[in-house]
Amino acid sequence: LEQSRVIGVDVGGTKILAAVVSRDGSLGARIERPTEVSSEAALLAQLDELVEELRAGSPELAALGFGIPSRIDQLEGRAVASVNVPLRGTDFRDRMRERHELPVAIDNDANAAAIAEWQAGAARGASNVVMLTLGTGVGGGLILGGRPFRGATGSGAELGHVVVVLDGEPCRCGGRGHLESYATGLVAGERARERFGQESGARDLIRRAEAGDADAVALLAGIGRHLGAALATLVNALEPELIVIGGGFGEAAAEFLLGPAREVLERDGLEPGRDNVRLVLAELGTDAGVIGAGMIAFEALAPEA
Ligand SMILES: [Zn+2]
Repeated sequence: LEQSRVIGVDVGGTKILAAVVSRDGSLGARIERPTEVSSEAALLAQLDELVEELRAGSPELAALGFGIPSRIDQLEGRAVASVNVPLRGTDFRDRMRERHELPVAIDNDANAAAIAEWQAGAARGASNVVMLTLGTGVGGGLILGGRPFRGATGSGAELGHVVVVLDGEPCRCGGRGHLESYATGLVAGERARERFGQESGARDLIRRAEAGDADAVALLAGIGRHLGAALATLVNALEPELIVIGGGFGEAAAEFLLGPAREVLERDGLEPGRDNVRLVLAELGTDAGVIGAGMIAFEALAPEA
């Protein structure tokens, strides 16, 4: 098999994007479908169908990569603790490998996005990168020493669940005071409705801030300060060269979040990391997940590369 192109599949809670991915991160044929969430069997069948459709058009495709919104057990090749998709600890990697007779890699969706930005986006050329994706939740990804960091079993880099307030607001994961309890589009929407009424939301909050509404600016600054607390912790622990902020909410609200975040980072971060680190926006947008899924498929082709 020619090993220059693979299939990446970004399995989202609402939609699946599958595409042919080249080594440089460019995308060929792509298929987008609403996610089949009725059962695990139905979702697996849908993924099979997407893979087979793409292979029918490009028979030389050499590997499969799946980005999944779950914690991943890389030792067993399983998705564990899925919230938005019906994957309940099945032997995902083995099943896909047997079914499609190709090398298969799986990873958490936010790790995949970080790998994509590192290989083909805002973090190209950097060796130590923190990525935070602020959307409905907060996804995290790490590149350390020039390679993706996944922890002991593969569930590493859940940076949305770093504690920024002891005994703070409840998080969806069951913990308290996590970054995800303070710095998401969901939280911004709640704050906006409390302040501006039921018709408001995250988008409205950003619009009001853009129009100069001081309360809206202050609410977003509060979110940005919590983000800054997490950034200080990450800079002190890891000394990254680059922090990439992505996600729908993170990018839309960046001009109101990053200034306050930087102030906290400058106060609570240590030299020289806090001064050297660059804070940039993601470049790949909603394609990051599928590009990253393709990049991990290339890892499956050359595991030690
Ligand atoms: Zn949490």
